[in-house]
Amino acid sequence: MPVASKVPDEWKDGFLFVGNHLALDFLNTRPISAEGPKELLPDVDALVRWLVASGVLTPQKGKTLVKKWQAMPEASVFLRELLKFRERLRAVVIRQEARLSVSNEFIAETNSLLKHHPSVIALQQKGKKLELEAASEPEKPNDVWAPIAIAVAELLSGVSPGRLRKCEACIVHFLDTSKKGSRRWCSMNICGNKIKVAAYQKRKRAAGKKMRRGR
Ligand SMILES: [Zn+2]
Repeated sequence: MPVASKVPDEWKDGFLFVGNHLALDFLNTRPISAEGPKELLPDVDALVRWLVASGVLTPQKGKTLVKKWQAMPEASVFLRELLKFRERLRAVVIRQEARLSVSNEFIAETNSLLKHHPSVIALQQKGKKLELEAASEPEKPNDVWAPIAIAVAELLSGVSPGRLRKCEACIVHFLDTSKKGSRRWCSMNICGNKIKVAAYQKRKRAAGKKMRRGR
């Protein structure tokens, strides 16, 4: 299913893509900075930029839609609903990471979104492989529910909860696709180095204490 974000870079146009899954990259549009949680989708313009960065929209389509949607009051209404849904999804993912079940309400909500915003999917040739991908692009703001709903449905049904994880140093969630299943942080560049430096300093302090005691 068309769920992996199509961009390998960690950051694209100011958005974070380390989730290995479109639903998690969507969740990670509210990461934590030094000043606290940061909303990366504050307006319709940012939403369209994220849809382009995540591969849901082509850059060309994004350009057309941003002009159209900026003038539409329903686009802001949609964005508010989308962000509320994102926070409900966050609660579900946190429960999944703790191996707790998904609530019936959230299942019903996702099913309702899937019913009212069905996805058109099609086989696409990717080199020698065939992949099942979304074949329709949103026209109206509400159409964005389709790719979001199918990604969330896939996350909750097709992914082992044991591979869902939160970074040890921040609130970013990711799907651990490493062979050993031992990924611990969102990114080596963002949190990995921070943890390694902290662990090194702790070891150094402990060694210092030991030396002083030994004297
Ligand atoms: Zn992190």
